[in-house]
Amino acid sequence: MKVAIIGTGYVGLPTGVGLAELGHDVVCIDREPSKIERLKTGQVTLFEEGLSELLTRNMAAGRISFSTSMAQGVKEAQVVLIAVGTPSHPVTHEADLRYVYEAATELAYCLKDHDYTVIATKSTVPVGTGDNIESLMAKISPNLKVDVVSLPEFLREGYAVHDFFYPDRIVIGANSERARDTLKELYAPLLAQSPKTQLLCVKRRSSETIKYAANSFLATKIHFINEMADFCEHTGADIAEVAQGMGLDHRIGPSFLQPGPGFGGSCFPKDTLALYYMAHHNGLELSLVKATIDGNQKRMEQMAARIRAALERSESAPRCLAVLGLAFKNGTDDCRTSPALQILKAVLKSERDLQVRVFDPEAMGKAQELLQDYAARITYCVSELEACTGADVLAVLTEWPQFAALNLAEIAHVMRGTQIVDCRNLLDAKQAQELGLSYQAIGR
Ligand code: NAD
Repeated sequence: MKVAIIGTGYVGLPTGVGLAELGHDVVCIDREPSKIERLKTGQVTLFEEGLSELLTRNMAAGRISFSTSMAQGVKEAQVVLIAVGTPSHPVTHEADLRYVYEAATELAYCLKDHDYTVIATKSTVPVGTGDNIESLMAKISPNLKVDVVSLPEFLREGYAVHDFFYPDRIVIGANSERARDTLKELYAPLLAQSPKTQLLCVKRRSSETIKYAANSFLATKIHFINEMADFCEHTGADIAEVAQGMGLDHRIGPSFLQPGPGFGGSCFPKDTLALYYMAHHNGLELSLVKATIDGNQKRMEQMAARIRAALERSESAPRCLAVLGLAFKNGTDDCRTSPALQILKAVLKSERDLQVRVFDPEAMGKAQELLQDYAARITYCVSELEACTGADVLAVLTEWPQFAALNLAEIAHVMRGTQIVDCRNLLDAKQAQELGLSYQAIGR
């Protein structure tokens, strides 16, 4: 099938490359010329395991191309996927649908003389957005032959390639049978090779809601285990053992039971807020979602306070903090709403003389852009060991597996101080103690 994707970011690019790998003829469209220029030369614009190889293979096979022109990109498309950002509105905190409506507006002009096209929204959008897109497009081009479908994306950053080919489910929210059948045809090769994937066809409004409900539930699970970690710290229980005991119950499951510094990234924070405000506008109070949003904010402040307290135990001046991990989670270079950056900024704000040495295996470039205000006080290092050299305190903020394999004897040797605040429970507590380090983990 001929497919166009509007928005070539963390969702659009893996989706485009994946659809090409399934044999479809794909055009990825983005309004950022620098992104498209790089992609045209075969360079990926974000870090995802396996994506680069897949892109190279499909470009060579002529199944994927890139364009900044929507008119050009959607020319022959039978399906157009909208995968633009839906960030939190800075004032209202609702989902900002500006990019979605801009794309839909342009699309209405581009598809004027087209045969039937399915427009599927991959972007996470509030319930009723499909209806709004439909009427907006009809106003611009009354004779459009389109169906608007909700096709929410559930991929996990860091596993985007895997999750594209082996998703738990594909949800199609279509109010028209023709649109549903077109999307079933699009995903037929994937379903043939991934027998465990469930295809769920629902009403468009249900599909839009599923995405917010799923993300808010997962965020709540994280918030819950973080609160349990606090509970364990006060009672002498060990959160790892508690989480294991909980997770063995198949009704609960082991995922999302790792305590940490709070959830972040480009989805959970904005989607929980958007759901809360969506409900609010409908006269409903989602108290659990609200508690999760507020609790998560407090969590990051709590982690910043721990790091400050560890710094205060050092008598050096100026003090030096080593930070391992900047991305919002491992496996990605995405730093949007990263707990690591929020915690680091909070500490930098209050500790005015503090010098910071940071290392992240993939996210240094993106973090640097977001930490510009503190550039003079941050040194970007090439390794964990370099970051720890001369540090009074070490804070582990992202769960990169390679941090768990660090040689703590070497770390202890190069650090000036002895304090470690491990917000991901990655390091070997026993070894740290044997080395005379003051090691603080979570929930133990
Ligand atoms: P992103 O910011 O990485 O990418 C969006 C891209 O769209 C950008 O490159 C931007 O230049 C482009 N764009 C915006 N308006 C455009 C227009 N009119 N024409 C062409 N290009 C345009 O965003 P993302 O992380 O890929 O997220 C996209 C959507 O998918 C969001 O709604 C998000 O909530 C949802 N989602 C994201 C993830 C994730 O893990 N990132 C997972 C599931 C769902």
